[in-house]
Amino acid sequence: MHPFAYVTPNTVEEAVAVLNEHGDRARPLAGGTDLLVKARANAWELDAVVDIKNIPELMNLTIGKNGLSIGAGVPCYQVYENSEIADEYPGIVDGASIIGGIQIQSRAGLGGNLCNAAPSGDGIPALIVHSAVARIAGSGGTREVPVEEFCTGPSRTVLKPGELLISIEVPKPAPNSGAAYARFIPRNEMDIAVAGVGVYVELDDSGNNFESARIALSSVGPTPILATEAGDSLAGKPVDDKTIDTAANLARDAASPITDMRGTINQRKQLIKVLSGRVINQAVERARG
Ligand SMILES: Cc1cc2nc3c(=O)[nH]c(=O)nc-3n(C[C@H](O)[C@H](O)[C@H](O)COP(=O)(O)OP(=O)(O)OC[C@H]3O[C@@H](n4cnc5c(N)ncnc54)[C@H](O)[C@@H]3O)c2cc1C
Repeated sequence: MHPFAYVTPNTVEEAVAVLNEHGDRARPLAGGTDLLVKARANAWELDAVVDIKNIPELMNLTIGKNGLSIGAGVPCYQVYENSEIADEYPGIVDGASIIGGIQIQSRAGLGGNLCNAAPSGDGIPALIVHSAVARIAGSGGTREVPVEEFCTGPSRTVLKPGELLISIEVPKPAPNSGAAYARFIPRNEMDIAVAGVGVYVELDDSGNNFESARIALSSVGPTPILATEAGDSLAGKPVDDKTIDTAANLARDAASPITDMRGTINQRKQLIKVLSGRVINQAVERARG
């Protein structure tokens, strides 16, 4: 492995300055559970690794009346052990609590999961369905990007050289809403998703009709996918098997998987259909309380 400097800035400005100085030869380090694996495999030649965990703003985790703010360096366990987050954002907790095992979850966070931009990232679909926004800092100031637009390809994001993810901002869920995420893996835990589905639904006051919905898919395209047509098909419809089946079929059609050692195109499309039906039902149950 190429030797590199380990830098521990205390402010966003310092971190951005180091990243700018080294361009694509520097990388931010959050939990390091992807970064160290890739660095050891010589995926990059790094001159500097910029540890973000000494920057207070990036370690903030707050939940309030305007929503949830997840600092880019906050580890998964802090997200799923927070009872308020578990109550209000169970879909995000579904994702955070299956990323690796307990050791990984003690280091790895949703910020690193998003910036790593794996199509199989388990934390990303629930953020997308919650309409979360990524707050990014660079030398020109800060900007915001919807999470569904953040990943541009496998291991590729909208981040420009010198830019840093600050936090993920998740709006407060509407009344009568619920969310869930589930994946298929051949083993019981610690595996890469063959297919995954995140769902957010908002029901009317009776709990019998969908007001709106968002569905996002993982591991079935070069990036996580917002299946807009599938989610929109639920809006204004009764909560019944026919409506849910139609949405599940549209989610399957939105998937564009490849065949690889973990699954075939047909298997993955079928998995998306089955998982979509299940996860929509689970989100509905949660919305009904
Ligand atoms: C044994 C094992 C099991 C795993 N299981 C799963 C799993 O089940 N599901 C899953 O989705 N993933 C899994 N992973 C992958 C990994 O743990 C997750 O993607 C994790 O969320 C990465 O978070 P991190 O904080 O460790 O990121 P890091 O490794 O620190 O960073 C990941 C990437 O993002 C960049 N980055 C980090 N922070 C920032 C920032 N603030 N701004 C800009 N760029 C940044 C880094 O430079 C790096 O390129 C597993 C990994 C291992 C080793």
